[in-house]
Amino acid sequence: MRSPAVGKKKDKKAAKKAKAKKEIALLATLISAGRAARENGQAYHTTSVEIRPRFHNRPDCHDGKDIEDKNIRPGEAGRPLCEECRALAGTR
Ligand SMILES: [Zn+2]
Repeated sequence: MRSPAVGKKKDKKAAKKAKAKKEIALLATLISAGRAARENGQAYHTTSVEIRPRFHNRPDCHDGKDIEDKNIRPGEAGRPLCEECRALAGTR
């Protein structure tokens, strides 16, 4: 159980596991920040491939609402504002 060769292999595996854990934690942070942005009417976007990439800033936008949790991220990502979000902002 405690042979040096196995220990080394274990270290490598543990480092890989720790890295994966860190990446998952970072992703979870981005997703929750993206969801918070949507709820609060701040800029958010999706990481999924879009024909015309845009960002949203309305919680009541249909396309915005359709963004899956795993794909939602906070910020504009250098994209133009979604037409529906713009229209929603204009009415009211
Ligand atoms: Zn929108």
